[in-house]
Amino acid sequence: NHARVESLVVSHYHKGADEQYLRELTIIRDIPTALVQGQLFLVYQPKVDIKSNTCHCVETLIRWQHPTLGFLPPDEFILLAEKSGNISIISDWVVKTAITQLAAWKQQGITLTVAINLSAHDLTNDNFANDIQQLLQQHHLPPHALSIEVTEGAVMKDAQKVIAVLQSFRDIGLSIAIDDFGTGHSSLAYLKLLPVNEVKIDRSFIKDIHIDETDLMIVNTSIKLIKGLGLTVVAEGVESEDGIDILRKLDCDTIQGYVYSKPLKADELMLWLADFNQ
Ligand code: C2E
Ligand code: MG
Ligand code: MG
Ligand code: MG
Repeated sequence: NHARVESLVVSHYHKGADEQYLRELTIIRDIPTALVQGQLFLVYQPKVDIKSNTCHCVETLIRWQHPTLGFLPPDEFILLAEKSGNISIISDWVVKTAITQLAAWKQQGITLTVAINLSAHDLTNDNFANDIQQLLQQHHLPPHALSIEVTEGAVMKDAQKVIAVLQSFRDIGLSIAIDDFGTGHSSLAYLKLLPVNEVKIDRSFIKDIHIDETDLMIVNTSIKLIKGLGLTVVAEGVESEDGIDILRKLDCDTIQGYVYSKPLKADELMLWLADFNQ
């Protein structure tokens, strides 16, 4: 009884924490329903090749329109899905939806590569590459229509296992990017061991590049290193024209950021692409 009173008192004094806890429980509980009821959707952000000033690749990012909680960005539910063991059903849905979209675009004569974000748990699934390959074949799409983004942190969790799964993606012809580079405490030596094609420098180093000399130096050095390893380099989260100019001078390959476009719904993306690539 004493414990019960105490817990009531604690909950009274931590109302904010309780509310947050309930919100998280609701999110976890509702993930399976969201999938069945079509509450999840994908948006697509252009990745611009700054040499040719064209866009042939987009990154897909997940969104959730929740019936009572409203709009939820991935930062609110991806980690909870990982912790509650629900991430693989989300990742399966993302892969299916992205491939269906690619097939629809192909029908309209539009050739694009879609990059999907995978989680640490997906990188322990030995069958994933096989499943993806089958789906691509069913839709008569080449493997390079899809690419994979994984964070440094996800790779470092179980590097040996993850390298084997990444290799299985590469074996079926998918290209792989390391996401949020610079935030994951990985040793630079790992870049050499990982079967990757592309490295995306995290937005935290990019956002002030036009005003912060230290960031400029870090990005300059990172680009040299990444390109020295023969990999493609992407700058994430570029918001200004100044940023584009600087990154072009530093020999960056690809830019992603609000300066070009926010993530867009599929039909908005078609309009953006028609305008940009004309
Ligand atoms: P990320 O893969 O590093 O994606 C980049 C994030 O930065 C996206 O946020 C994007 O909307 C945002 N962004 C892009 N350009 C700019 C810019 O110029 N300025 C600013 N301030 N932000 C910019 P978003 O969509 O909220 O996604 C956050 C993270 O959630 C992603 O980071 C990714 O790690 C994860 N995520 C998104 N979709 C999925 C998914 O389908 N599956 C998994 N497992 N994770 C996902
Ligand atoms: Mg990403
Ligand atoms: Mg990123
Ligand atoms: Mg991120």
